[in-house]
Amino acid sequence: MTVTATIKPDLAGLLPEDAEAMLKQHFAERGQAKYRAGQVAKWLYERLASGFDEMTDLPAAEREALKEKFELSSPAVAKLSRSVDGTAKHLWRLKDGELIESVLIPTPSRLTLCISSQAGCAMACSFCATGWAGYRRQLGAGEIVSQYRGARRWARENGYGEISNIVFMGMGEPLMNPKSLFPTLAILNRGYGVGARRITVSTVGVVPGILQMAEMPEQYRLAVSLHAPNHELRQKLIPLEKKYPLPVLLDALRKFDEAGGKRITFEYVMIDGVTDLPGLAEELAGVIGEFNAFVNLIPFNPIPGTDWQPSKRARLTEFVDVLEARGIPAAVRESRGRDIAAACGQLRAEATEGRKPVQMGSI
Ligand code: SF4
Repeated sequence: MTVTATIKPDLAGLLPEDAEAMLKQHFAERGQAKYRAGQVAKWLYERLASGFDEMTDLPAAEREALKEKFELSSPAVAKLSRSVDGTAKHLWRLKDGELIESVLIPTPSRLTLCISSQAGCAMACSFCATGWAGYRRQLGAGEIVSQYRGARRWARENGYGEISNIVFMGMGEPLMNPKSLFPTLAILNRGYGVGARRITVSTVGVVPGILQMAEMPEQYRLAVSLHAPNHELRQKLIPLEKKYPLPVLLDALRKFDEAGGKRITFEYVMIDGVTDLPGLAEELAGVIGEFNAFVNLIPFNPIPGTDWQPSKRARLTEFVDVLEARGIPAAVRESRGRDIAAACGQLRAEATEGRKPVQMGSI
């Protein structure tokens, strides 16, 4: 006889309208008043309860019944690291023991949360420690949303205030996990009230996902990790370039751009003697000049296993000047949380120390 385990619906990963319908049905079946569903929704979306036991305005029997029927994803904090600059990194342990990270980045005007969409990453970009560690598994929508719920709760309790922006720039390539990413966007937007323009999906160029985002009515932001203005250099940094070469990627971005009002941010890693060579800034301007774009230049963050160094200050300034002279707004994005390995490309660096990169271009 085969015994099949019942998978309980995870309230953290359900679309708000589905959660509401299921809760209403659950309470109706139990002969409970309709307002019970609203009580749970308040605990879920406003008070950010991490478990049913916290829902103290429900009778104990109802809390037990909810536990029987539903999950509420709530990963444990395996480690919390706080940088001297205020950046706070949570290492979350999921139910099956997988570890993922999210990073809170405070500035005077905003509090940004950087979240993970996969455990590990299969993209193997040569400048990124997450990629070197390899891919573990997809995250469910509830596991992605619960990073937001946990980090937001922690931020409230620790004087960081409310999260204003969310960026999918943690571990993983979000558009390689569309089954969880797209519901997550809707849950954050409609359930937790995070404005679509305050949510940025960052991709190394997964063309089908970009095309899907172009068709969405909500104006979610897109950040494209370009890192090189031509196919030859880009394929040495980003293996996915072989599957979706630059011209194909640019075509998809045109469609996203044509959908209107959706500014694209281009991320460009500045590696000394690799991506900052003379002429590359001009070439970059030529490639992205047609878009309503902004360029973030990210000085390479040292990670174990490579001799690469960040570009010199003078090169960074020169790049910004060339782009701006061509009418493309650009800025150097100061790295935050380097001391706790929370900066771009450093997530999971500690766990992979001593490992050799799995994909190194012959640069
Ligand atoms: S840069 Fe992004 S897509 Fe590339 S390996 Fe790192 S996490 Fe994956």
